[in-house]
Amino acid sequence: MSVLPIRVLGDPVLREETKPVDEITDELRALVANMFETMYLAKGIGLAAPQVGRTERIAVVDVDGQKFTIINPEIVSSSSKTAKSEEGCLSIPDVYGDVERPMSVKVRALDIDGRDFEIEADELLGRCLQHEIDHLHGKLFLDYMSVLKRRSALNKWAKEKDKYPGFIRHLEDDPSLEHEHPDEEL
Ligand SMILES: [Zn+2]
Repeated sequence: MSVLPIRVLGDPVLREETKPVDEITDELRALVANMFETMYLAKGIGLAAPQVGRTERIAVVDVDGQKFTIINPEIVSSSSKTAKSEEGCLSIPDVYGDVERPMSVKVRALDIDGRDFEIEADELLGRCLQHEIDHLHGKLFLDYMSVLKRRSALNKWAKEKDKYPGFIRHLEDDPSLEHEHPDEEL
């Protein structure tokens, strides 16, 4: 297994629509294993393929030991009740913001063996799944923030982004991993 470089805000791959997976190959299994390893090293709870520069419709999550590989995931239903909570993103290090989302969702996906499954999730897992599925459609948590809050988040990012030349975050020498974050990053 190997740790993959993470693409940060500014890399166009983060805004691209992903392609549905039609065959689960050994190469894809290796990608998923590497995504888990990368996510754990980055102290994240979710990671989507575009964040490592890939265009397959795949994400991995691990929220308090609830671990899933979601391939071609779809949100089949979501609660009308919403909740607001602070989010961060491994592709926008050190930037956080409140995001309002449906409180619970039902997600249908394929697992790493190509089997259909469903997850009903609320709280942090529900939020994490929504955040990762957004990544698979080129959407970032910043897109949900008010104009003013997004502007202040982008000002913060303007001071951070020079740490990541070429929009690439190498976890091996990542300045933002030297201190513990109070927040969960997705
Ligand atoms: Zn993210």
